[in-house]
Amino acid sequence: MLEIRFHGRGGTGSVLASQALAKALFYAGKHAITFPSFGAERRGAPVLAFARINNKTIFKRTKIYEPNIIVVLDDDLLQLIDVAQGLKAEGIGVINSTEPPENIKLSKSVKVGVVDATSIAQKILGEPITNSAMLGALIRSIEFIPFSDLEKGILSVFGTKLGKTLAEKNVEAARKAYEEINFGISKGGRSYSKHQPWLPTVDELPIGTIIPKRTLENGQIIGPGSALIRVTGTWNHHKSKIVQEKCNQCLLCLFHCPEGTINREGENLSVNRKYCKACGICKAVCSSDAIMMEKIEDFSEIMS
Ligand code: SF4
Ligand code: SF4
Repeated sequence: MLEIRFHGRGGTGSVLASQALAKALFYAGKHAITFPSFGAERRGAPVLAFARINNKTIFKRTKIYEPNIIVVLDDDLLQLIDVAQGLKAEGIGVINSTEPPENIKLSKSVKVGVVDATSIAQKILGEPITNSAMLGALIRSIEFIPFSDLEKGILSVFGTKLGKTLAEKNVEAARKAYEEINFGISKGGRSYSKHQPWLPTVDELPIGTIIPKRTLENGQIIGPGSALIRVTGTWNHHKSKIVQEKCNQCLLCLFHCPEGTINREGENLSVNRKYCKACGICKAVCSSDAIMMEKIEDFSEIMS
């Protein structure tokens, strides 16, 4: 049995892709189970999806912790998440990136298949939705079913949801990635910081406040302060930036920010980028067009 873990971002079509994969395997006479894993995250947040494929009936229903294959739809995620965690020694990473395989940095050195799925999708679909291209790359990497079955799967699932023309374009994107994927060995040794749960000490509590600590059976900590361990800044490539010269100090942004990331220091307002999830609410309410959304490439500041 092959176990596959997909690392993507919410709202970018990974569920549709996993359905198309399951249909393709069905056409090939194989067995498949695919399922996404969502939390409270919104569009843009890192999400997981899983697939098991086999020649016979699959009974296992758990999440996949030791996959044979990982598929990374957005290479920004390589900075944020240890995508290779649990990947079997003989496993393979299928990665969307403009870098050659030997420049891909993971926590361990493994076989990787790399394709610039974003450029393929942008060129063929007109938008950077990489799900179908990454399916083509995956099928080439595992050589479990022929491309013609993937084609049928995409036409069926995407066709029902998006219409025939778009489904055909997605087949084209998948075929291009299937043909262009390059294989090699990644670099290993990339380290990832672990965010420690935070709970206030007695001295840090506001006067008159009682904060009971509760640790759930799965180790998750709940209660005031626990939001600090959910780094919502990983949920988007963009961050809010305040142009101080245009700001008239109306403070509408500060009061509307759902993450409480906007701080006032003297005359200046600043955004805590670690928690800015780029929802754009501050920009929408700003009374003087003083907020811009800035794309970031390096997430090290957010993950520190
Ligand atoms: S985009 Fe603005 S409102 Fe949304 S989280 Fe960031 S700072 Fe807050
Ligand atoms: S809403 Fe705009 S003008 Fe008002 S404080 Fe925020 S950045 Fe400044």
